[in-house]
Amino acid sequence: MSARDQSSPHWNDPGAAKGGMHPDLHADASSRSLRTPSISCVVPAFNEAQNLPRLLPVLIDQLRLLTNSWEIVIIDDGSSDTTLATLQPWLNGPGVVCLALSRNFGKEAALGAGLDHARGDVVITLDADLQHPVELLAPMLTSWREGSDMVYAVRADRSAESALKRFGARVFYSLMRFGSSIEIPPHAGDFRLMDRCVVDALCALPERTRFMKGLYAWVGYRSSAIEFTPPPRLAGNSGFGVRALFSLAASGITAFSNLPLRLASALGFVLAFIAIAYGMWVMIDHFINGGDVAGWATIVVGLMFFSGVQLLFIGVLGEYLGRVYEEVKLRPRYIVARRLGSSQIDMPPPSLSAQPR
Ligand code: UDP
Ligand code: MG
Repeated sequence: MSARDQSSPHWNDPGAAKGGMHPDLHADASSRSLRTPSISCVVPAFNEAQNLPRLLPVLIDQLRLLTNSWEIVIIDDGSSDTTLATLQPWLNGPGVVCLALSRNFGKEAALGAGLDHARGDVVITLDADLQHPVELLAPMLTSWREGSDMVYAVRADRSAESALKRFGARVFYSLMRFGSSIEIPPHAGDFRLMDRCVVDALCALPERTRFMKGLYAWVGYRSSAIEFTPPPRLAGNSGFGVRALFSLAASGITAFSNLPLRLASALGFVLAFIAIAYGMWVMIDHFINGGDVAGWATIVVGLMFFSGVQLLFIGVLGEYLGRVYEEVKLRPRYIVARRLGSSQIDMPPPSLSAQPR
């Protein structure tokens, strides 16, 4: 694990890309280095009964080293194991809060619920399975003190992942780079530190289908990266199989790129051009050379090909239409069934209900 580029972080701010420290950073960095921020850790948990009792003690130890005002917001994302019961000893004392969602809403929604309820000056999101090392919290906070509003951890090594997953990640990031105007840093996940201003911006976004990796990049702010090598999952299995990852990638692409729609138009244009050229060639061949008009096989092949292309792109249109339908239904992104435990951070608690935005 290594902190990368701490002295010259990569800023999303184009003004700072020319080199040197952004002028605002001097002011921010000096005010931030003078105060100890309150810290919220947001931990989505789906069937993590075996991992949370290992994570919480080390995470609490780290937080105590960094600040005297902290909270850990665990989002029980409709777990079917004993995750909630396992948390009980920590929920009796101040500091650990659990939001029990009414069912499994998925990691993106669980993260959204955590961000909506976190109260810290600084919010850190991390997984419950100890794949996000808590020792990185200190260097992340150092980067925040130096002026970064968002510090994201980048996986330095993906060799432990399956070849299919790595290939999928490569294709996904290439597509996003080519087809989207926002720049999503490759191999950065949900392990990140965010200043209150970033969290407020994320929480104010009205969309329901949330692709967090894209939204982090979309909101902008001064960002820097820290490299790490994730250890294997402590216990249990990943909730993201090939199907879930494919669906996540599809929602990322449809949320941040119109490339598939443009491809449809481009392919339609090229095929129409080929069809017209072929039609003209057949006519010229018939009238000038007296050649036979090609038979039914050509027609059947042509028909099948064009029907296939049309169906494919009706499917692409359907994907986008489905996303629009999800948005117009205006359903809440998650429902908090119960809120347990109490925070150490001194603020009135947010309302218990789901937050329809
Ligand atoms: N998770 C969640 N809801 C889900 C699936 C996963 O809250 O529906 C949580 C999970 O408990 C973990 C984090 O999201 O804390 C990352 O999940 P996982 O380790 O399965 O993903 P991977 O590390 O394989 O990307
Ligand atoms: Mg994991």
